[in-house]
Amino acid sequence: MKQLPALLAAMILLLSCCAAPESPAAKDAVAEDAAVCESQLFAMDTYMTLRAYGSAAPSALAEATSLIRTLDAALSAADEGSEIAAVNRSAEPVTVSDDTAALLSRALELSGTLNGALSLTLSPVIRAWGFVSRAYRVPGKEEIAGLLKQVDDTKIQLEGNTVTTPEGTELDLGAVAKGYAADRAAALLQERGVSACILNLGGSTIRTVGTKPDGSLWRIAIRDPKDEEHYAGTLLFGEGAVDTSGGYERFFEGEDGEIYWHILDPATGYPARSGLVSVTVLTGDACTGDALSTALFVMGAEDAVAFWQTRRDFEFVFLTETDDILLSEGVQFTPQGRYADAPITVIRHETDP
Ligand code: AMP
Ligand code: MG
Repeated sequence: MKQLPALLAAMILLLSCCAAPESPAAKDAVAEDAAVCESQLFAMDTYMTLRAYGSAAPSALAEATSLIRTLDAALSAADEGSEIAAVNRSAEPVTVSDDTAALLSRALELSGTLNGALSLTLSPVIRAWGFVSRAYRVPGKEEIAGLLKQVDDTKIQLEGNTVTTPEGTELDLGAVAKGYAADRAAALLQERGVSACILNLGGSTIRTVGTKPDGSLWRIAIRDPKDEEHYAGTLLFGEGAVDTSGGYERFFEGEDGEIYWHILDPATGYPARSGLVSVTVLTGDACTGDALSTALFVMGAEDAVAFWQTRRDFEFVFLTETDDILLSEGVQFTPQGRYADAPITVIRHETDP
C-alpha cells in the first residue's frame, strides 16, 4: 500500500532552506540564528524530516542525511546486502562497521536490563509472522514454539568489531536502529556547529538539540493510535529524545479477524497484548528511548510503571486500550482530540532520588 509513495520518496531528497522572516531592520544576529533549513528523506522504511537552524545547517543536514542512509544500508533486516544480513547468514565471525558494533554493544547492554521484554534475536519469529517480507501470516503454535528456541541474546558474541552468532541465531535491531541513527545525526549536526535542530524519524523517533532559537520548548505531537489523521496530544520538550512504540505502526488483520502487530512478546512469540496501545518515552538519547518504548509496550502498564520507579532517567506517556492516559510526573502533556477529556493518571516517584 505504502510502497509506491515510498519508492518515489526514496528517490528524492528534498533540501529546502529559507531565512527567517525579514524584520524591518537589516538582518541581525537573531535573524541569522533563526534561519531554518529542512531536509526530507525516506530511509529505514519511513519518511524523515530533519530541521536545523543557523548558518551551518545546510551542509550539516546534507551530511546527516547521507549518514542516515549509510546506517540504513548497514542495519536493515530486509536488505540482503546489509551488515545484519551478513551476520545472520554466517555462523563464522563477521567484521562489521564501527556504527553497527557500537549499536549492537549498546543494544545488548539495554536488553540485559529490560527483564526479557527486549530481545535482539527475535528475528526468526518476526520473519515467520511476515513482518520483514510483508507476506503476513499467523504461524502455528508449534512453529512459534520451535522458533523461540533460537531466541537467546546471550548467544551473540561481540568482540571489537567482530560479531559471531551460532547457526540459527539471527539479529534484528529494528527496535533500536532509528534511535541510534537519530543520536548519530544529532551528534554530527552539533559537531558541525548546529545548536538547534529537531530530527523527526518517522514520528516514532524524535531527537532534538537545544531549544527553538527563540528559547521556547519544542512542541511534539503524539499520534492518536486509533486514528492516523489525529493527535492524542502535544508534549512540550527541551533537548533529548521522544520515542514512541505503537501497534498501529505495522500490523495486519488475520483470517480470524484479529489484528496482529509487529511488537512481539519474546516470552510467547506472539504480538504483545499488554493493554497498552502507545508508549512514548522521553529521555536523553534516542537509542535508549527507542529500546525502552518497545520494551515497556511489551511489559504493559503495571510492570512498566514498576520499572520506571527504579529509574530516574526517563519520563513516559502511555495510552491504553481503553483510551486512558498514564503520565509520569515530569511530563508536560496536553491531551487533545478524542483524548481531550480522557481520564489521566499521573504517576509519581514513590521515593526521592
Ligand atoms: P519499535 O517500533 O521501536 O517499537 O520496534 C519494533 C520493531 O522491533 C519490530 O518491527 C521488530 O523488527 C522488532 N521487535 C518486535 N518486538 C520486539 C521485541 N520484543 N524486542 C526487540 N525487537 C522487537
Ligand atoms: Mg523501539
